[in-house]
Amino acid sequence: MGGEFVSPVPAIRLENLTVAYDRHPAVHHVDGHFAPGSLTAIVGPNGAGKSTLLKTIVGLLTPTEGRVQCDSANLRRQLAYLPQQAEIDRSFPITVGDTVAAGAWRDIGALGGVSAAIRRSITEALAAVGLDGFARRSIGSLSAGQFQRVLFARLLLQSAPVILLDEPFTAIDARTTADLLALVQRWHGESKTIIAVLHDFDQVRQYFPQTLLLARQLIGWGPTAQVLTPANLLVMRRMSEAWDEEAPFCPPQGRRA
Ligand code: ADP
Ligand code: MG
Repeated sequence: MGGEFVSPVPAIRLENLTVAYDRHPAVHHVDGHFAPGSLTAIVGPNGAGKSTLLKTIVGLLTPTEGRVQCDSANLRRQLAYLPQQAEIDRSFPITVGDTVAAGAWRDIGALGGVSAAIRRSITEALAAVGLDGFARRSIGSLSAGQFQRVLFARLLLQSAPVILLDEPFTAIDARTTADLLALVQRWHGESKTIIAVLHDFDQVRQYFPQTLLLARQLIGWGPTAQVLTPANLLVMRRMSEAWDEEAPFCPPQGRRA
C-alpha cells in the first residue's frame, strides 16, 4: 500500500529476552525465533508473561535484558497488533467505519482524508468479516463478537506482514471464532508471520503449527505436537501453582533458564 516496495516478511529473534516490572521479571531469559511466515500460538497460565512478551515485540515495553532482534530495519512499521479486549476502550463515540479506517492511517496520513480507494477497502474488509452494512453503526452498540470482527477488519486494512493477536478469541462466540480463525488461516496462506496468545489447546493443535509455551521462562518452543506434551503441560501447571504474588528479583546477567 502507499506505493512502497513490498518488503519480505522479517524473522523476529528473541535474544535472552527479559522484561521486568519494577525489577520483578514477567518474561525471563527467552531465546528463540519466529520464522518468516510462521503461525505460532503462545500458551501459558495467567500471569505467565504472554501479554508482556507481545508488548515487548511491538515496542510498547523495553527489555530489561536481552533484545528483540529483527532482520528488517523497521519492524514496528510492519506490525499489526491486537491487544486483549479488556485493554480496549469501547465507550468512545466512533463508528465502525472510522474504526476500520484507522487501520489505513499510513495511507491516510495526518492531514489527508479517506480516499475512495480506502472507502472501498473498508467496505471489502467489513464484508470479509461478515459485517456488511455496519459502517455507520457506533462501536458501543456491538456485541463482543461483532466488535472483534471490526478489529479484524482493521487488521485487514493495515495489511501488515506481521500480525500479533492477544487472546483474540477469549469471550468470543463460537461462530465468530470460526470465522476469524478462517481469516488467520488466510493470512497464513499469504505467508504473514502470525503470533497469537491462545488458551484452547484443541484449537492450537488443530490450527497452529508452532507453539511457544511460556511460564515467565520458556518451557518449550517449536512444532506444536512436540511442545504441548503431557510432560510440558505438567511442568506448566506445577510452575503456575508454585508462583507466589511476588516473583523473585531477576538473577544476574548470563544465568539462563
Ligand atoms: P499474561 O498475559 O500471561 O496473563 P502478563 O504479561 O499480563 O501475563 O503479566 C505477567 C506478570 O506481570 C503478572 O504477574 C502481572 O501481574 C505482571 N504485570 C503485568 N502488567 C504489569 C504492569 N503494568 N505493572 C506491574 N506488573 C505487571
Ligand atoms: Mg495477557
